[in-house]
Amino acid sequence: MLQRNISLKPYNTFGIDVSASYFARFKSVKELKDYFSDPGLSKLPLLMLGGGSNLLLTKNYEGLVLKNELSGIEILTADNSVFVKSAAGENWHDLVLFTIKNNLGGIENLSLIPGSVGAAPMQNIGAYGVEVKDVFHELEAYEIATGKIKKFNAQQCRFGYRESVFKQELKNQFVITSVTLKLTKNQTLNTSYGAINDELKKRGITNPTIKDVSDAVISIRQSKLPDPKEIGNSGSFFKNPVIAKSKFFALKEKFPDIVNYPVDDNNVKLAAGWLIENAGWKGKTIGNYGVHKNQALVLVNYGGANGNDIYQLSEDILKSVKMFYDVELEREVNIF
Ligand SMILES: Cc1cc2nc3c(=O)[nH]c(=O)nc-3n(C[C@H](O)[C@H](O)[C@H](O)COP(=O)(O)OP(=O)(O)OC[C@H]3O[C@@H](n4cnc5c(N)ncnc54)[C@H](O)[C@@H]3O)c2cc1C
Repeated sequence: MLQRNISLKPYNTFGIDVSASYFARFKSVKELKDYFSDPGLSKLPLLMLGGGSNLLLTKNYEGLVLKNELSGIEILTADNSVFVKSAAGENWHDLVLFTIKNNLGGIENLSLIPGSVGAAPMQNIGAYGVEVKDVFHELEAYEIATGKIKKFNAQQCRFGYRESVFKQELKNQFVITSVTLKLTKNQTLNTSYGAINDELKKRGITNPTIKDVSDAVISIRQSKLPDPKEIGNSGSFFKNPVIAKSKFFALKEKFPDIVNYPVDDNNVKLAAGWLIENAGWKGKTIGNYGVHKNQALVLVNYGGANGNDIYQLSEDILKSVKMFYDVELEREVNIF
């Protein structure tokens, strides 16, 4: 059903109250096709919406917002590798719980990431040493220009750090309709992230199952990140910047504590959260929005904030980080 001029507040985790001139949900590819076949609607700017957990709405959306409600999860083959196909409108964490219930390993480290399955490959979601690309098999996507469903393997998706071809060359050209992951029955667990090991130790677990790892990740995330149901946010607002080693060594002289991770022989990744915190932004509050008190990478809406104000705050942080360290931050959140 097509709705007019509705508030998008319930549909974005930042809780920004702007409106969409047209809004509709689709539960099947046929319904999706019907919207694109409508001569009036197909001309409008399109915002494809999953869980709304990776966007900042800065103004009323003068176009069509299509909410993905494609559902269904199935296990395709049950060999040693198990292929699990999920419709794009499923909730990502529900898919993680489904795989754990079926004793399939591979995405337990990605527990409790908000949003839909369809958006996961868009930005190659990642946490605690695992990215969706590590278990990705293929996806199906509806090509808006032709109305055809096309398949993409991992190579064609061109995954990078919070990147894929769908955020670059193929931006706004496809609607992801399903994602198939390759999981395993006898998973080697990835607990290399210190925090997971510490949490398992705290629980007295020496021989963890995939469920133990998932529970540990859930507990760490709940203690560290603000729950969007309580404080509006979109998770990490910025990406961790990757810089040349030579520049890193110069920065390390000036800032001996600078948090960093090795990338390759020539590059180093910096922790954007540390850069922002060290530049004095952590916990900064401007009226009803600001920088989270425990996590400088997360911008927050305490209630009733304007998306454009939050965008301006992100601009100020970008400028400040550039001035402090001569490092360019990039936004992870999609701006509309
Ligand atoms: C508290 C919190 C913690 C988070 N932690 C993490 C984390 O640890 N790791 C991480 O990687 N991310 C994290 N995120 C970000 C977010 O959860 C992910 O980016 C998630 O994949 C977004 O899914 P979504 O369905 O909400 O996407 P949306 O916000 O609805 O959409 C994001 C973008 O993808 C497009 N899009 C959505 N669905 C489709 C589709 N089916 N086809 C084509 N385009 C589509 C949208 O148009 C938009 O441009 C976090 C967010 C929050 C609020």
